[in-house]
Amino acid sequence: MAQHWKTPAGRALRADGLRVADLDTSARPGFRGGKKAGQELLAERSAVLAGLQEKLYANGRSGDTRSVLLVLQGMDTAGKGGIVRHVIGSVDPQGVDHAAFGVPTGQEKKHHFLWRIRKELPRGGQLGVFDRSHYEDVLVARVHNLVPEDVWQKRYDEINRFERKLAEAGTTLIKVAMFISLDEQKKRLRQRLERPDKYWKFNPADIDERGYWPDYQQAYQDLLDRTSTDDAPWYVLPADAKWYARLAVTELLIEALEGLNLQWPPATFDPDTELRRLDSA
Ligand code: AMP
Ligand code: MG
Repeated sequence: MAQHWKTPAGRALRADGLRVADLDTSARPGFRGGKKAGQELLAERSAVLAGLQEKLYANGRSGDTRSVLLVLQGMDTAGKGGIVRHVIGSVDPQGVDHAAFGVPTGQEKKHHFLWRIRKELPRGGQLGVFDRSHYEDVLVARVHNLVPEDVWQKRYDEINRFERKLAEAGTTLIKVAMFISLDEQKKRLRQRLERPDKYWKFNPADIDERGYWPDYQQAYQDLLDRTSTDDAPWYVLPADAKWYARLAVTELLIEALEGLNLQWPPATFDPDTELRRLDSA
């Protein structure tokens, strides 16, 4: 297979200095092929991802406490669910700790905003996936004044401290902000209204949220500027092309897992002895 990435996804998508308002949501940073090449490559790379994830899981079973956490953020219809289904769906579900964060429940509201997040952190050896996250508390909470400004302003530093501790404890964080255009969102919302198999994804409030698009863009800009750290970098993912988004996240996960230099756990028994025992059993 030809080398399709002219820049590795991890480098092509780094958030540093990026202006959300100037982002071309139909771009495919780092990738030089079209849809067909992308889909073929995705099939191949999904198998690589599955192999690496199995190694992480195997190490977890042998006491390795390291984990990987994919954080997905994006406006409605940006494709977070598609990443979970198509990218995470290609690995062994035993090794996945998945959590989706919606409007906080009554109980969750009584606690600090990180309380419900802590409960869902991946265990050693697991690939964690957050469909929305603690970042909602500096996005929707800010745009809709759910808390006073002095409260949400403090959260950026709190989040950075929280994530630094997580990283120090052995969790590799991959934070992906998915961006689609306002037009693309309209298309996708229309589909949800025209196809009975998509009604379940539609929420009438999603249409109202479109009126806050510039506020969300500003909130995303601040989030990227203030919480993209060496411990936990943000990746900005143009997501109009679903095939590209899925391929890029697959690559980000592969890069992260490769960075762990995982080996298969050594045998805790002597394989030759066991083979001899098996032969005569
Ligand atoms: P969905 O991901 O489509 O199921 O929608 C979940 C909804 O929950 C979105 O409208 C989010 O903005 C909302 N949500 C998630 N976290 C929070 C939060 N901390 N505070 C308020 N709303 C939230
Ligand atoms: Mg929704």
